[in-house]
Amino acid sequence: MTVETEHSRKYDAIRAEFPGVVTKGFECDVGWLPILREFFSVVRRMIPAGRERDFVLLQVKEKLAGLRIYFRLADSLPDAAKAAIYDDYSVAEARAAVTCEVCGQPGVFRSQNGWLLTRCEDHAEGGIPVPPPEAT
Ligand SMILES: [Zn+2]
Repeated sequence: MTVETEHSRKYDAIRAEFPGVVTKGFECDVGWLPILREFFSVVRRMIPAGRERDFVLLQVKEKLAGLRIYFRLADSLPDAAKAAIYDDYSVAEARAAVTCEVCGQPGVFRSQNGWLLTRCEDHAEGGIPVPPPEAT
């Protein structure tokens, strides 16, 4: 099974689990999908059924070795719901920063030919551990 097939199969499952919420593809590898599932389950709990338009997913991607989820929330959402979603986004970012993007095992930031990646030992592919971008 190719990586692409595994990615699209897992992505389709998450999309089916959160209809109207997961409306964009994920531009990251499968190791982070459990983190995304957790994030979208919080979104689902905070957005009432029928109000899916209150959460607009713009983009999900890997950037500078970190997970980025871009989204827009309706002004009319209760502050507690907004706070819960932003809080869980922070948690998702923090988890992704220590999770191999390929397999989901514990990982660290690595530099590989000028690219920053978050990878475990098995998927390092020669990447050298470096401090997180925030710390530099
Ligand atoms: Zn790995």
